[in-house]
Amino acid sequence: MLVNEIFYSLQGEGYHSGTPAVFVRLSGCNLRCPFCDTQHGHGTEMSEQEIVVAVKLLIPHSSPLTPLVVVTGGEPALQLTASLVEALHAVGERVAVETNGTLPLPGNVDWVTLSPKSLWLGEEAAPVLTRADELKVLFDGGHDPAAYDHIDATHRFLQPMDTGDAARNAALMRQAADYCLRHPQWRLSLQIHKIIDIP
Ligand code: SF4
Repeated sequence: MLVNEIFYSLQGEGYHSGTPAVFVRLSGCNLRCPFCDTQHGHGTEMSEQEIVVAVKLLIPHSSPLTPLVVVTGGEPALQLTASLVEALHAVGERVAVETNGTLPLPGNVDWVTLSPKSLWLGEEAAPVLTRADELKVLFDGGHDPAAYDHIDATHRFLQPMDTGDAARNAALMRQAADYCLRHPQWRLSLQIHKIIDIP
């Protein structure tokens, strides 16, 4: 598997926001979003066992709890296998996946975060996944998140887009908060890793 990076940090977004987790960022994506802010193009070839060992090394020995492993990308479904998820389970982790939803996922992941991009890219990016633990939709003030009302999700998060402009970002945060207040099935997701400047 081509792996971009493996690191330990706090989950910055969505339901698990603030939760310590080991992140496995797989390289490559099948979409080209104009606002993509992740560096996922390069990577190191690693076996599934090497990935599991690298994850294990990052888990604090003092942890009394089962740590969360977040497999992200890029688009992790391009490479993720049921055998890697199983191998991660064998060392005791819960495995969450962050996906654009255009490709099927192994059935043994514990948590699916679906972040569809078809509002910006059109039908070719329409998600094939129709069910997720959490739906996370970017908010740019110009596209209505109601386009994803048909997706069955236990939790729905609206996340203001990072435009790179502080004044514009602040305005989008206020608009997104207002949208959540008017549509209380949505909750606000802020990228806390950017706010506190951690990976
Ligand atoms: S789906 Fe995600 S990783 Fe892929 S291009 Fe879009 S924002 Fe970037």
